[in-house]
Amino acid sequence: MSGLYFSHPACLEHDPRVHSPGHPDTPERLIALEQSLAREDWFGWERREAPAASVEQLELAHSAAHVRSIRELCAAGGGAIDPDTYVGEASYRAALHAAGGACAMATALLAGEAELGFCAVRPSGHHAERDRAMGFCLFDNVAVAAAAAIAEGGVRRVFVLDWDVHHGNGTAEIFRRRRDVLFASIHQWPLYPGTGALSDCGTADGEGYTINLPVPPGSREPLWLELIERVIAPAARAFAPELVLVSAGFDAHIEDPLAECCLETSSFAEVAMRARELAHAAHAPLGLVLEGGYNARVLADCVGVTLRALAGEGQPRTLASDAADAADEAICERAIAQVGRYWPLEGSCSP
Ligand SMILES: [Zn+2]
Repeated sequence: MSGLYFSHPACLEHDPRVHSPGHPDTPERLIALEQSLAREDWFGWERREAPAASVEQLELAHSAAHVRSIRELCAAGGGAIDPDTYVGEASYRAALHAAGGACAMATALLAGEAELGFCAVRPSGHHAERDRAMGFCLFDNVAVAAAAAIAEGGVRRVFVLDWDVHHGNGTAEIFRRRRDVLFASIHQWPLYPGTGALSDCGTADGEGYTINLPVPPGSREPLWLELIERVIAPAARAFAPELVLVSAGFDAHIEDPLAECCLETSSFAEVAMRARELAHAAHAPLGLVLEGGYNARVLADCVGVTLRALAGEGQPRTLASDAADAADEAICERAIAQVGRYWPLEGSCSP
């Protein structure tokens, strides 16, 4: 099975180093990734140009004032939004194509043109809130695509899995009162941005539709896979999404400079196959959107492994019952107790 690969040259024009020379979010991340995929002939995936999102699409997830402020700051030559987040003149256009690629991918998947998609875009999105850019992110690409799939694509339920090592506070905030988007994130804690406590399950009508699974620094593959298999996958199954989107960051890798989780390159194949399985079980297409990953060589390897695993016939390996240590087991049990209040998980007493 092959998929659709979206990218746009405008995404290379956003370069925060103009304002902050050591900034980790570089165009070279995408260049390394694409050089590596080109060597593999893109695994047979069909390459498409990511179109620009419309302002109307952006405003499904962001306030008009936020969209305008990014446009105007870029048009004025750019500058710092916060200590991490910088824009230049070309950043607005890059951000339009990043969000537009995610929307076009969702549209194509829902039209049945493919079952898999990947957007190699930047700036990334999952920290951008409805009214605020932060954490390298201007517009929340995945949130815009999920909201557009519901508003324009007639989809009733979208599942968003965020496997970036940082909490996707933007996506969580944008959908925290909604029950048509189930958001699940595994993230290192403590770490930027500091949100995403296990006890934060969403608000009002959206209570239960936010699943936050913080893991400590040093967490390894067995814990991540346990949390996916025992918490995220059964909740997603019960939710029955019509579309699955992934905030696909690769900064939980042991060689990533911004965090302290310890996934190996091959771990992303295991994570990706589990995402594919849960989408498959729901008869829903699966679309990934690039978020973090700040060691360019490692990022390139991880994306390659991910695309190969998604499109391949391989099955996730069975977890050894003794794979997780006692500390991991305790984290898992706490997560099951919390999330099991809302979703039918094995080992929980409700619902
Ligand atoms: Zn990240």
